[in-house]
Amino acid sequence: MKLVIAAVAILAVHVIALVLTPAGGMAISYGFFFAVAVAAMSSTVLAWHSSGEPRDSRWWLLLASLVLWTVGMSLSARQNYVMDNSNPAPGDSMFFYILYVLPVLVAVSSAPVAARKKWARSIDLVLAALLGVLFYVRTFSIVSVEGAMGPQQAVDVAHMLDFENLCLAVAALLRFLATDRADDHYFFRAVMAFFVCYAISGYFYNHYIALGGHPDFGDSPWDALLDIPFLALCIATLSRKPQRHWHPPVYLVRFVQSASPTFLAMSVLGFGLMVIPGYPSLGITGAIAAVIGIGLRGTLAQVDLVEEEFRLSRSRDELEGLVFVDSLTGLANRRALDERLLREWHRPGQREPIALLMIDVDYFKEYNDRYGHLAGDDCLRALAATMMARGLRAGDFLARFGGEEFAVVAPGTRLAEAMVLAEDLRAHVEAQAIVHPRSPFGVLTITVGVAAIQPSTVGGPLELLNAADRALYRAKHSGRNRTGSLGEVRQEPSARAG
Ligand code: GH3
Ligand code: MG
Ligand code: MG
Repeated sequence: MKLVIAAVAILAVHVIALVLTPAGGMAISYGFFFAVAVAAMSSTVLAWHSSGEPRDSRWWLLLASLVLWTVGMSLSARQNYVMDNSNPAPGDSMFFYILYVLPVLVAVSSAPVAARKKWARSIDLVLAALLGVLFYVRTFSIVSVEGAMGPQQAVDVAHMLDFENLCLAVAALLRFLATDRADDHYFFRAVMAFFVCYAISGYFYNHYIALGGHPDFGDSPWDALLDIPFLALCIATLSRKPQRHWHPPVYLVRFVQSASPTFLAMSVLGFGLMVIPGYPSLGITGAIAAVIGIGLRGTLAQVDLVEEEFRLSRSRDELEGLVFVDSLTGLANRRALDERLLREWHRPGQREPIALLMIDVDYFKEYNDRYGHLAGDDCLRALAATMMARGLRAGDFLARFGGEEFAVVAPGTRLAEAMVLAEDLRAHVEAQAIVHPRSPFGVLTITVGVAAIQPSTVGGPLELLNAADRALYRAKHSGRNRTGSLGEVRQEPSARAG
């Protein structure tokens, strides 16, 4: 609010000064224009500084535009004071008043992804350079360095400025309305504030003041109108970063962001068409370059999208892989086991029983207590490697069930064969001879519960899991370091009872 009051006060001082001292009006207006331009440039630098980390380099483009505008204003003052030329539209300053939009146009045309790529920037650079040439040709096809030859030329120049300011105002407004990021919002709010005010006050000033009988600065208090865009820019940059109250529809955001790279090319096309009557080859070159530019930028965006899609699908595959892996042992995890069981259970034409081995490490709590959890983890990894390397047959599926429990799915395996497999695993683990002083066996051992069931349409894999779990429970209770099914528990000769 304070900023708005200060801006209104500056405008009022400008108007009062013009009313009170009409003789020095031109000097007063030039003084105010330079002062507000310098204020706008300073606040742009401040905005860049407060734009977060990393800093938003688009503010430099806005600064470049303000500098170009100030050069135009200086050339106009030079015509008035040094050349003693009072023509309202001297070509050199008009050219800079047109050229000044170029840096901001590049910023407004930046796309979120593609513009970061070097070659997209190169295309923009070529288009911007071409647009500069077209501006030059268009300006000097209407006016000379001295200025407009007659009223019609002055009107033509005013129309060209209107067209340009309107395009920028609309583009900036669209980008402001369709932003989903705070830094975009902050930047485009400032650009929009400046260009919307500039388009309105510039139109009014050019058509009703300069062309309406007050061609020189200082001739009317309306000069203060031209301060407004610069003051609006100061307010937009210096006021607290905006809280957005309106969240644009996502589709609009994406649409404007995707369309913005075409703004620059569209301007080249527009100005190319404008100069065709006077400079056919240049105009046609501009139009062709614009079409190629739009095509290339579109293709680049497409390439980016395809690349992104590949990257995403690769990381999705990797993630999917991780979802089924136990991070400690590298074995399949419980989720993978459930899926495998379900698949085997419902495999068409499954005539053989499916066997499930539930494996539990004996006295593992004691092992952790004795050696610590990290050593316990190493031990689980070693056990997993042992069981993986030995004892399993092709088609058998070993997974970590959870904690210190593992499971093997053995499709097409009868109970007797499964018992042999279980015993094989038990023996291999025992033979590893991992020292476990707190176990009655002296080494780390496992107990295995075995079940084998013919899959039927009535039951499900849960039936098999329950049976194997009960078998494990029974085996544990009849001692440890042994294998057992619901029907029998085997105590191997090497297994000393605990
Ligand atoms: P039992 O012979 O009856 O199976 O005795 P136990 O000590 O092995 O069984 P209990 O269920 O009492 O203890 C299991 C232990 O396994 C407790 C827990 O600290 C340990 N454990 C489970 N998951 C992990 C793990 O990921 N890392 C380590 N280091 N220890 C684990
Ligand atoms: Mg257990
Ligand atoms: Mg255990």
